[in-house]
Amino acid sequence: MSKDKIIEIVDEIKVELINIAKKIFEYSETAFQERKSSKLLSDFLEKEGFKVERRIANLETAFLAEFGDGKPKIALLAEYDALPEIGHACGHNMIGVMSVGAAVALRRLGDIKGTIMVVGSPAEEKGAGKKILVEAGVFKDVDVAMMIHPASMNTGYDIAYALRAFKIEYFGKASHAASSPDKGINALDSMISLFSMIGLMRQQLPEKVRIHGIITNGGQASNIIPEYTSAEITVRALDEKTLNETVEKFKNIVESAAKAYGCEYKITELDSMEAVLVNEPLAKTLEKNYKSLGMKITKRTYEQGVGSTDMGIVTQTVPGIHAYVDITGGIDIPVHTRDFAQAANSEDGYKAMINATKALASTCGDVMNSEELLQEIVSYFERRKGIASS
Ligand SMILES: [Zn+2]
Repeated sequence: MSKDKIIEIVDEIKVELINIAKKIFEYSETAFQERKSSKLLSDFLEKEGFKVERRIANLETAFLAEFGDGKPKIALLAEYDALPEIGHACGHNMIGVMSVGAAVALRRLGDIKGTIMVVGSPAEEKGAGKKILVEAGVFKDVDVAMMIHPASMNTGYDIAYALRAFKIEYFGKASHAASSPDKGINALDSMISLFSMIGLMRQQLPEKVRIHGIITNGGQASNIIPEYTSAEITVRALDEKTLNETVEKFKNIVESAAKAYGCEYKITELDSMEAVLVNEPLAKTLEKNYKSLGMKITKRTYEQGVGSTDMGIVTQTVPGIHAYVDITGGIDIPVHTRDFAQAANSEDGYKAMINATKALASTCGDVMNSEELLQEIVSYFERRKGIASS
């Protein structure tokens, strides 16, 4: 498979790709509302000869496009959701386009070995769409999964927090705050103590653990001893073991804070996300393709800032990467800012997006044409999962 030919084909379709990215930027549809954006991407794939299934896993804005047959089966993930108020400040208008562009380039190239699949995955920002898709079995025959996210650096690697989010409730007893405070049980005392205890616990927590939250109900009226309070609190760590250990400590203090004042309590797990398991052979292959396109590689470090992504669960299910492309010309612009939104709709940003599309398609080509590389990718994954589960 000729990489020069792949590059040539991406150049043939680049005007169309940039137009799609611009339109998705304009639509700025938020989680699960991405009707026009997902239609635009799936219509393009259909026109290019892909078999497209819309509304998969009961999600209106998810889709699955496929072409080719047999192994290896490569899944390219498409995100396209925006943020409320600040629009495409995470650059997701480019993510779907890169995956779709790479898939179309391979389809036009013709002589590919295996299956290319584009997974239209809604709601990365809120709702963890990919988790729903994983649970629906979308990745069950997939050998490799990849996506590229806009950023201020080019890298095949990522670091992301695993997280567990909880709703905490305290139940006390209402009473007049002035005339009969002694008859009440104050659910707010438990809540305030909980936040203080989290603060004290921080000193003894392993480095790079995060606990953050808000009080969602702080009581009913200032002349009533609060009978009910609630909060939402998220715990994050870079690995599952540390996360679960921290969650156990956290649950203990939730209980202690209830007991201290005679309240009842309830813990409800709201959400969870997995850390990204970077498949190194795959990340290195993408970086090699970046380099041959003249793109400068930056090492991914914790200090650059770390969040969480629903791509985590995908990389824990099948070998995969959550890579980055520099759309800001190396200037450090954090995501979820208006400045980043501007970069996500800039000519230089789109130029970087096209380069990354070429690298992504070339990486698919590498995996499809080298059984040795595929074997290396698979054994790396099995080795890492083996360690993780022991
Ligand atoms: Zn994002």
